[in-house]
Amino acid sequence: MSQRVLIILLSLALGAVSGAFGYSLIAQKRRAVELSIARAEGRAEAEKAVAAELEALKPVVFSKVANSESKPGGVQFGYEYVKPKKPELEPFYTMAHDGDLLRKLPEVHAIDGMLMLPKPIKYVTAECDEVNAFYSPERGEVVMCYETMQTLLERGQEMAKSNGEGEGYAQRYLDANVRFIVLHETGHALINLLEIPITGREEDAVDQLATTLMQRFAGMDESTGVVTENLRMASNWFLARSTGEYNLDAYADQHALGEQRYFNLQCLLYGSDPARYLSIVTDGDLPEARAKGCPEEARRISRSWLRLLLPYVAPKFEMTEEKANRLFEQRKRDRERNAGIPYVR
Ligand SMILES: [Zn+2]
Repeated sequence: MSQRVLIILLSLALGAVSGAFGYSLIAQKRRAVELSIARAEGRAEAEKAVAAELEALKPVVFSKVANSESKPGGVQFGYEYVKPKKPELEPFYTMAHDGDLLRKLPEVHAIDGMLMLPKPIKYVTAECDEVNAFYSPERGEVVMCYETMQTLLERGQEMAKSNGEGEGYAQRYLDANVRFIVLHETGHALINLLEIPITGREEDAVDQLATTLMQRFAGMDESTGVVTENLRMASNWFLARSTGEYNLDAYADQHALGEQRYFNLQCLLYGSDPARYLSIVTDGDLPEARAKGCPEEARRISRSWLRLLLPYVAPKFEMTEEKANRLFEQRKRDRERNAGIPYVR
């Protein structure tokens, strides 16, 4: 058996036992195998790159046996609320600034200081002269435009009126969508900063991350019902400007059509707990043919994002795939328990 074949077989065997060990350990062993391949083939450059990567993974692997207090934490995010020039945007500045809106988004709070990033992500609200939200790789900023907040509030008010929703609906609609959009942009930031491998459309991948984060890291005082309402408000926004008729530009766009993003989100929601969300299918919000594959789709997507991000979780947290899953289960149970209590804080 040639050395190359032996190395490949070893690599496959390591992949097969990945369920039994923490991901970082497997990641390290895979790198070690890649290093051997690079060496065997005499590729000096590749060998150097893989060796450096291997070195970087070490603290995560060995943190289990060390005192986590002395381990480095992740990079802290920055936050800024820029004062707008247009007076009509002032209330949105006040809302964001006075409430420290972006820092207090539960999912952003959950990952702030958790990841090893080459530079911090800065979260900004600002006047943009257009309805938009984006990640700027040059500035390392996730920007939520006041114009978008204004449009979201108006859409929430329209929805409240036409559906006879009560007091506070429009604000909840605005909050839920700001949250989803900021997490979507966070996905772009992470892909850019960590050079996370994505095959397929990046826009779909970051919608999936936003949904997964909202399901996993919602506040502990938010019941599963509230989490669901937030996600359904986010999916409603996908349909907001849809006419159902598209031109070529829409088909060629980086984003899927609003209707497709809507059904993708319904699928992840239904798939996360088919018994609980059966009404999504029976109410006609998700065709049965698609629904069938959604439990597997939801499981695969949340597991994939977990595995993509785990190598970058700071050593301080001593995180493994098993530990992360246990924590998610615990959070889910606690959230169910807190569901009947209106204010936990
Ligand atoms: Zn995007």
